[in-house]
Amino acid sequence: MNLFFEKLTSPEIKAAAERNTLIILPVGQVEEHGPHLPIDCDCIIARETAVHLAQTIAADIPTLVLPTVWMAYSVQQVARWPGLITFREPETMIQVIYDLLASLIQNGFRKILIVNAHGNNPAILELACRKIGSDYEVFPAVTYALAMSKGVGAKVRQSAMGGCGGHAGEEETALLLHLAPETVHMDRATSEDIVQYQTRFFPGDIYSTIPDKVSGIYWSTWGVVPSKTGVYGDPTAATAATGKALFEEMIRTYVEFTHEYYRHVS
Ligand SMILES: [Zn+2]
Repeated sequence: MNLFFEKLTSPEIKAAAERNTLIILPVGQVEEHGPHLPIDCDCIIARETAVHLAQTIAADIPTLVLPTVWMAYSVQQVARWPGLITFREPETMIQVIYDLLASLIQNGFRKILIVNAHGNNPAILELACRKIGSDYEVFPAVTYALAMSKGVGAKVRQSAMGGCGGHAGEEETALLLHLAPETVHMDRATSEDIVQYQTRFFPGDIYSTIPDKVSGIYWSTWGVVPSKTGVYGDPTAATAATGKALFEEMIRTYVEFTHEYYRHVS
């Protein structure tokens, strides 16, 4: 069964829309991920998650995966290390996503799941989707892939707290060791940038177990703790086995959510 949107013919797209097919849109970014991971790390995670999710649910839900949106918006702090390709303004990214979603709606699709893997994207994607909902009465879901691994993250992680800082730390490095090991240079990984600042307002680790954590605060990591190497966390602790456990949890969580989303959204 073909799962790739861009490989269909025009009449097949029409038939897919009539079947109320779910569209999965992977969104990444091209930016530095330390000295040990490729700059398309977020694209790899978004794409692999989207494809694996589609393969897992396709027997129950008609599904197509779009090509990955590989360019996004990043803050200039990242530009200190070569490799960044960014929109100058976040508004451009909002417009790109809005137009992409509006085109899908014009083609007759109403159920759209965004699989995002870049930390600067959630607020931008949410704004685009709020406007789409307001203009078209179509309500895409925005998801952050790393957040879907939280069910097992605290159990399978090998690093101390501050080692899974959300950017090229143990978590992303482990995922790439599992998904694309040929792109990872473990001999260049460094533990210089373990996130030392951790409070209940700034957990400093995506699998934080700090009790009474207060969610809903945005406070840029780049402003709270400077990074020496472009990493937040401890990639030296990463293994492919941890990456496999995180990825399987992500897919499990996505499958459950996708069934609920597809069933519930009109
Ligand atoms: Zn990343």
